[in-house]
Amino acid sequence: MNLEHINALKTLLSLPKKIAIIPHKNPDGDAIGSTLALWHYLKGKGHNAMVVAPNDFPKFLKWMPGAESILNFEKENTQAMDRISSAEVIFTLDFNHLGRVGQMTASLEAAEATFVMVDHHQEPSDYAQIMYSDVRMSSTCEMVYHLLTYLNAEDEVTSEIANCIYTGILTDTGSFKFKSTTSTTHRIVAKLIDKGADNTAIHSRIYDTNSPSRLHLLGCALKNMVILSEYNTTYITLSQEELDQYNFSKGDTEGFVNYGLTLEHIRFAVIFIENREEGILKISFRSVGDFDVNHFARKFFEGGGHTNAAGGKSDASMAETTRYFESLLPQFKKALTL
Ligand code: 5GP
Ligand code: MN
Repeated sequence: MNLEHINALKTLLSLPKKIAIIPHKNPDGDAIGSTLALWHYLKGKGHNAMVVAPNDFPKFLKWMPGAESILNFEKENTQAMDRISSAEVIFTLDFNHLGRVGQMTASLEAAEATFVMVDHHQEPSDYAQIMYSDVRMSSTCEMVYHLLTYLNAEDEVTSEIANCIYTGILTDTGSFKFKSTTSTTHRIVAKLIDKGADNTAIHSRIYDTNSPSRLHLLGCALKNMVILSEYNTTYITLSQEELDQYNFSKGDTEGFVNYGLTLEHIRFAVIFIENREEGILKISFRSVGDFDVNHFARKFFEGGGHTNAAGGKSDASMAETTRYFESLLPQFKKALTL
């Protein structure tokens, strides 16, 4: 974050403000962890802050300190709209353009607040007056830690803040596995443990909360897996009917796409998940090495993200979408098999 923006932020926060903190739609561990960590900090400094999420978030994140006070734009619409329109400052965390908040986009576009972006996705748009965007960062949570350092607030990291930040780093790095995990990430994680992050408990609250039906859904997903050895590519499909059969609840398919990458030689793994209510297929793309799924998702599936993890969507049927997907692979054969 450059000095000019750090100073602008310090000035902005020098007096108590009315603040809204916004994660992206279908918030994950990094989005909820970063917004709650910032919320705890701002509240502690005497600001009137509130996290407003576009929609609900998975059960395995509900234990997080402060999670119960998050406003849900879908369910608590009047209160959420009021907070956004009356906020003096709006922080947007873990996303790079306003379209990523779904039905909340228009309210944010109409808001008169000063916008502050903290994000690690590629190609950020320029709606924010104060920007901290760095695609090399493991997670927005790691950035929130840096941000607190820039505000000279490292000593104000409470155990609540530490637990929130730890969670987002854990989930966005695939448990410290992805390439974006640096020695700095590990140094921050060490400090977080010293400040009260309960690493073992967090890991088990995130990853050891399977219901039998979720494991059965995973079984169904793995059975549906298609392996295209010629392109070192694999994909999974899950229809709405299959989701219904296994009592799908939000967050149940989190991480399924990564199973594809555990196959030897596979470089590109994809999951297509039907959402009948929205009339779309939600798609997750993952890669290892240089194959750029951000570019792929952006170009062919109205999405984006990072080099090795991105998302997108399709309005066509499952059969049409997977046929289209397969038809794209020959042009990437070299990149996928070199
Ligand atoms: P996931 O596949 O876990 O939903 O998302 C992987 C990464 O891509 C995340 O960093 C997420 O924020 C980003 N992402 C997911 N869906 C979209 C999308 O539709 N558009 C953009 N720009 N990014 C996305
Ligand atoms: Mn993130």
